[in-house]
Amino acid sequence: MDALDAKYPFFAAAREAVADAAVSLPELVAADAPAVERGRERVERALMDGTVESESGAFPGESAYDVQAELLSYPIARILVSLLDSEPAIEKYAAAEAATAVDRIRDDLATDGELRSVSTPTVALDGVLAEFDLADAVRPEPAGSRLEAGGAAGTGTPGAGSPGRDPAHYWIDAGPYLRLTSPSWGPSWRLVNRALADGAVRVSREELLDALEAAVEERVREGLPFELAAGEGIAAELEDGVADLKRLLSERSYTGPVDVVAPELFPPCMTNLIEKAERDADLSPPESFALMAFLVGIGMTPDEVVTFCADTSLDAEGIRYQTEYLKDDRGTQYPPPTCETLANYGICHNEEDHMQVAADPLAYYEKRVAAADEIIDWRDREGGGEEVKGAEAGETAESGETK
Ligand code: SF4
Repeated sequence: MDALDAKYPFFAAAREAVADAAVSLPELVAADAPAVERGRERVERALMDGTVESESGAFPGESAYDVQAELLSYPIARILVSLLDSEPAIEKYAAAEAATAVDRIRDDLATDGELRSVSTPTVALDGVLAEFDLADAVRPEPAGSRLEAGGAAGTGTPGAGSPGRDPAHYWIDAGPYLRLTSPSWGPSWRLVNRALADGAVRVSREELLDALEAAVEERVREGLPFELAAGEGIAAELEDGVADLKRLLSERSYTGPVDVVAPELFPPCMTNLIEKAERDADLSPPESFALMAFLVGIGMTPDEVVTFCADTSLDAEGIRYQTEYLKDDRGTQYPPPTCETLANYGICHNEEDHMQVAADPLAYYEKRVAAADEIIDWRDREGGGEEVKGAEAGETAESGETK
């Protein structure tokens, strides 16, 4: 096992390294090896902060754990998240592994080949594409193609000519494109709004990374949850760790939503995202997730979020998908990512250093709401939530129910 295996523990080579090492996970757990603590941290950070980066390192993105502990923490994290017995927890864990992996891939790609060293191994895009059987399905756009020069949609030449050293665009075959992307990410992801040629779809480099993030998430999600008999074997050994994670989850959702919608008090990060969407610009998946988690976190229903975002680039279908995903069937809410995570994504600019005031946008908003003299809830304003209330009243009347 090497540092690259630890960096990308879901790659086939890393899984083989674990198998070859013939390490017994039950023995590791029984011995309370460092990999177990790191596995618990991995799940906790995934559920709380949307990342699996360790906080043990001297610098962001560094880990104080050695290669073996880092690598083996991944199968242990998968066991822990299985034992949480919560589908949304599994979804969030897989999403956090994928988001962290793509951050690392992005950094690797930005590292000049000549600067790569053995101590900090990096992957190349070709290697990542091959890992997900996309080597033949994704082709860099040739330098100087008509689309690169601003030509009309559908006039590109995928696969022809020679690619630039660091192409800004790629062509991905329609099948993998449809499998790895979702129209719920925004109108620009719909096939009808895409340049298409020879059965391939044109994507920017950043959009290709979004698709790769979906591929990683799919890989991590595979096989979860494990079927483990509660109270026996490794499940029994991990009982305390699982109980800690469940307690953290319940503490985090204990306070419940603030249940006041006052857009003028939203934190700057959320206002910026809303204004971006109002300019009809697409939000990236992390941006859209952060905004939806915030709006659900302040107590808005999916209908209210759809109405609130009616004049933006966010479409109703995508909003419903994301807002319903953010609540499990027991109503547990998953909080928006922390300020630190949003800063890593470039979503937070920490105006006037207000990160000192709260650790996440929801906490910051709650403080502003508590400090405000008088608030008229957006849902009670004319033209605000009135349409939602009207729709809900209509539904109630039709169903013959009374409120
Ligand atoms: S510090 Fe937190 S609340 Fe403020 S803009 Fe950044 S992410 Fe949002």
